[in-house]
Amino acid sequence: MTHILEADISVELTKNSKLKDIDFNNLPFGKVFSDHMLLCQYKDGAWNAPKVVPYQPITLDPSAKIFHYGQSIFEGMKAYKDKDSNVFLFRPLENWKRFNISSKRLAIPEIPEAYFMEGLKALLKADKDWIPTAPGSALYIRPFVFASGNGFHASPSDEYLFIIATAPSGAYFSGKVTVAIEEKYSRSANGGVGYAKAGGNYAGQFYPTQLAIEKGYNQVVWTDDTSHEYIEEAGAMNIFVRINDTLITAPTSDRILDGITRKSLIEIAKAEGIEVDVRKLKVSELVEAAKNGSLKEMFGSGTAAVISPISGFGYQGTDYELPELETSYAKILKTRITDIQYNRTEDPFGWRV
Ligand code: PMP
Repeated sequence: MTHILEADISVELTKNSKLKDIDFNNLPFGKVFSDHMLLCQYKDGAWNAPKVVPYQPITLDPSAKIFHYGQSIFEGMKAYKDKDSNVFLFRPLENWKRFNISSKRLAIPEIPEAYFMEGLKALLKADKDWIPTAPGSALYIRPFVFASGNGFHASPSDEYLFIIATAPSGAYFSGKVTVAIEEKYSRSANGGVGYAKAGGNYAGQFYPTQLAIEKGYNQVVWTDDTSHEYIEEAGAMNIFVRINDTLITAPTSDRILDGITRKSLIEIAKAEGIEVDVRKLKVSELVEAAKNGSLKEMFGSGTAAVISPISGFGYQGTDYELPELETSYAKILKTRITDIQYNRTEDPFGWRV
């Protein structure tokens, strides 16, 4: 069975809601979890029906394959509430599709669309009161799947757990973000898993990022693994660079995550009459543009922070500062995309669900 309706999903509601203990005016990112989660098990060659259960720890055998071979992938999305408390998702089918693209690469069985979408709707219904309403806040949604089957043999697991957990989160203010252009390490490689949201991709980023932080930067800008000459992503975000009035972002590839914010911003920018150039950008071109004053903006894009402006970058021992603009593309694009997400304007693209 691969089809299910939201109404048919079993729901076990918690008897001890944590809702009253939460300070919704003071929400850290991803540390407070709602009352329920969606739980779905893969066993004997099939996914069992998903169910909504109270948020709870899970018990695994020490030989569970997730601990040894890292078979795990995840997604990141948000539920938004408008001023009348209507709830919206932003392009959720894109998350489901990417979830399965990631799963396939890690030899994890794909999840049927209805299990993901109807399961998510049932979960959001149970946790509707957990979706915050303060400006810029949202319910962060974390779907993930991992190998829960046992055994030290290095082969794909025969059992998996698919879970969706959620965390109410406040508006994300990153302050001034400076980045180090990575000259040695890589987050991904041709033929690798960079385009998948595999847990191990993030583990591999932590150490180089720590080194950049020790040098006084906030984040790493990843470059291609062979030459380190081309700009690819910024931390766990896609990257945009504005030179003169053109917005440039790297084309997606084996090495770059096909970000939903990225592709939405490309469409919004074009609709705004902004010239968008999806092409490879050399670090040397970025440095040259910083030197001659044509580099106007750099920003990261992703679901969590939406747009994260970069105020400066370091490369080969030199720091370059970006100008502070009155009307930046970052500001215009962030307003447009969040207006759609929070149902404050028309949605000419049909992205709101
Ligand atoms: N790149 C990486 C490596 C990421 O982890 C993310 C966050 N999902 C993104 C880009 C941005 O993707 P999205 O806009 O779909 O959140």
